[in-house]
Amino acid sequence: MIVPGKQKITEKAAVKNLDFLSLLTENPEEYFEAKGWKKYRLRQILNWIFNKFVFSYDKMTDLPADFRETVNNELPLYIPKTEKISYSSDGSKKYLLKLRDEEYIESVLMPAGDKITLCVSSQAGCGRQCQFCATGKIGLKRQLTTSEIIGQILSGMKESLPGKLTNIVYMGMGEPLDNFENVIKSLKIIQNDKYLKFSPRRITISTCGAVPGIFKLADSGIKVKLAVSLNSAINAKRNKFMPINLKYDLEELKKAVRYYLRKSKFRVTFEYIMIKNFTMGKEDIKALKKYVGDLSCKLNLIPWNSIEESDFIAPGEKEIDDFLDELKNLSCALTVRRSKGDDIAAACGQLAGKYQK
Ligand code: SF4
Repeated sequence: MIVPGKQKITEKAAVKNLDFLSLLTENPEEYFEAKGWKKYRLRQILNWIFNKFVFSYDKMTDLPADFRETVNNELPLYIPKTEKISYSSDGSKKYLLKLRDEEYIESVLMPAGDKITLCVSSQAGCGRQCQFCATGKIGLKRQLTTSEIIGQILSGMKESLPGKLTNIVYMGMGEPLDNFENVIKSLKIIQNDKYLKFSPRRITISTCGAVPGIFKLADSGIKVKLAVSLNSAINAKRNKFMPINLKYDLEELKKAVRYYLRKSKFRVTFEYIMIKNFTMGKEDIKALKKYVGDLSCKLNLIPWNSIEESDFIAPGEKEIDDFLDELKNLSCALTVRRSKGDDIAAACGQLAGKYQK
């Protein structure tokens, strides 16, 4: 009998093997019918997974024992295994999750007021090399499968009980638009009334500026909020710490954002990391105002969170206040996001799986 989470498999097998959660993006009813399995068995399994958060066929007590074994062999349930939970003093929890091929990813659950947000990973590692990000220093290990993305969300929903998960952000390890197909499939499952019924306005995809992916997302018909990690509105500076800017510069990025805005009913959020003596000077402010000033957007300012092997400096409260003061006349909504979980290396840019020393 297959024991979920125990198999040692290759990346290719991880992507290609059919499993129960990835079947949901196809036609599970047809699959069950072709197998000669009763259709109500599918409803029973869905009820266990999506309403009771039970992720082992062995515990689905209304399924006959022989069917449990059959379905486990043919459609295993792969939920990433929680190896470690780190607890922050602000209530955030960081989950170190082990995948079937022994790669590691992280997800973070962040309570704030009446909201509980789950930050999920879309890749093991990341190939985009943003200089402010611990994940970028690992390099890309591999894409996550649809099941691995959904598995993180199901685990997060179970963990957030008895409260309720209110928001999902694709802002963990990886560039979501570089794993386009699996991210889109996961969104379809999350939003589907038969499964998680998550409203599109409570799901955000964050990109470092993968321009072709933004166009594709706009054309996909999938409704989801978009956040762009901007961090500088000066090409020469952005080139230095976000190498993607060498390929798709600020002008190209803005064209893609405008296209997305035309196709979507949601405003775009720009994230801007405040780094002392680097992204907070007079010329930075002037360029930022010009760049976002004529867009329907929200500007989210994030004080720098330190990571190893980086010389960037976090701003003090006075510097943050002065920076905000300079931007107060902008027409777009302005927020300062105090990162959650920085004492457990779970804040923005700090996720590094088991590679964090
Ligand atoms: S910020 Fe995002 S896109 Fe950039 S290296 Fe980190 S995970 Fe990758």
